[in-house]
Amino acid sequence: DPVAKIAAVGGSRHPGIPLPKDLFEPSRGNSEGLDFSDRAELGRVARVVSGGDKAFEAKPAVTSAGEQWSDCGIEAKAMVSRALAAFPTWDARSIEDRAGCLDRLADLLEQERDTLMRICVQEAKKTIPDALAEVREAVDFCRYYAQQARTGLQPIELPGPTGERNVLRMNGRGVWVCIAPWNFPLAIFLGQVAAALVTGNAVVAKPAPQTPEIAAFAVGLAHGVGIPEDVLILAPGGPDLGAALVEDSRIAGIAFTGSTATAKRIARALLDDEERPIVPLIAETGGINAMIVDSTALPEQVVVDVVTSAFRSAGQRCSALRLLLLQEEIAERTLEMLAGAMDTLIVGDPALPSTDVGPVIDQGAYERLMGHREAMRGRWLKTIAAPDNGLFVPPTLIRVDQIEDVRKEWFGPLLHVATWKSGELAATVERVNRSGFGLTMGLHSRIARAAETVEEVATVGNLYVNRSMIGAIVGSQPFGGEGLSGTGPKAGGPHYLPRFCAERVTSTDT
Ligand code: GLU
Repeated sequence: DPVAKIAAVGGSRHPGIPLPKDLFEPSRGNSEGLDFSDRAELGRVARVVSGGDKAFEAKPAVTSAGEQWSDCGIEAKAMVSRALAAFPTWDARSIEDRAGCLDRLADLLEQERDTLMRICVQEAKKTIPDALAEVREAVDFCRYYAQQARTGLQPIELPGPTGERNVLRMNGRGVWVCIAPWNFPLAIFLGQVAAALVTGNAVVAKPAPQTPEIAAFAVGLAHGVGIPEDVLILAPGGPDLGAALVEDSRIAGIAFTGSTATAKRIARALLDDEERPIVPLIAETGGINAMIVDSTALPEQVVVDVVTSAFRSAGQRCSALRLLLLQEEIAERTLEMLAGAMDTLIVGDPALPSTDVGPVIDQGAYERLMGHREAMRGRWLKTIAAPDNGLFVPPTLIRVDQIEDVRKEWFGPLLHVATWKSGELAATVERVNRSGFGLTMGLHSRIARAAETVEEVATVGNLYVNRSMIGAIVGSQPFGGEGLSGTGPKAGGPHYLPRFCAERVTSTDT
């Protein structure tokens, strides 16, 4: 029964099928969400995000730590000291107490939705639908981790066949440093923080230098729901501040989302000093994500899902499609349809409800992407118009001869396309695997065996069959990769919280 199936994953509020009480319900599709067919409501939100009567002034981004902190080392040490002093009291509070804080924070985020969307549009240059999804995901992370803490962190009594009483307890580890990316400046920022806090840790949270304002607003809300100021400390700054925090040997763990290169630098720094304890690093990095399309796929659906996966959010998601692999027989026709669909995309001001693709995050990103696009000029299969008075990278299809020609993650709306031969599905997946990344993969096929093959062979964290490959839903599609794409555990999944904990067993002779 397909309806029951949808209800079971929490994706629908079908009135006839009540969801079990303890099932986490992600907020996408909730009636309290924004109705995009309601033009009056959309117009109101558009006025809010564009500043309305009381314009939001995004402060200039901090480009290097030096601009904000005269001495990062001293600042970092002071923040870690404060958090360390606050940690034991927070860890001693009940799980219910800490989970309650996250639930109240989720409520506040919903109340402040329009303001958060406005900062998100202005500071991170998100489109209105992306800004809405961002707030919803942040709310979902808070509620999901609250629920996971209540059910998963309780002490467990373990069997004592030799006559003793054994109890496993989950404690906080100490001070976590959370380092968030600019592309999900609220959702991922708060996801990391919420997980670390609810498990009893104190947190020093460093937002990306491009997006300090939304982080500051969110931390303000968190303090407002009773999370003490020394338990959650905001550390706005650049890479130097990040490095100083990582180098502090008193920290108990790091949650990082960003580039593979930075994740490796952090890992090296953590091992540098003989004396310091071995602490967990949870890293979520990038990917060279492929979508494989065979000759049985539904062409219209392929086109919609490719456009969504490659160009929405201006391709600035680590889950985004980077390499489209079309079975030879259908390549020409699919590309023709794709080109037609790309012509309907509107590139422009993210604050306008009509915009599909906004600008990229900053000048550096713009130059890197435009440089690559220009170098590939002879291989363009399609590009579209974009305003030339801003950081707008025109969505572009780029032909490559083989999978191996795409060696790095181009974090923007540039999609590489290659073909594969009938009968070589498994071999194609293996070649994709060899990039070493393993984040998302898409498959479009109507043959069940094809999906099984890809599932068996692909070494990716998230495989999407006959749908788009972005926008993982908290609690339903735990997100994160393997290999060069990250360490796990998956954000928004049932195994995330335990990694933030110190597990302790007491065995008592009875
Ligand atoms: N979770 C996001 C998605 O599924 C991507 C997260 C990221 O870009 O870091 O699209």
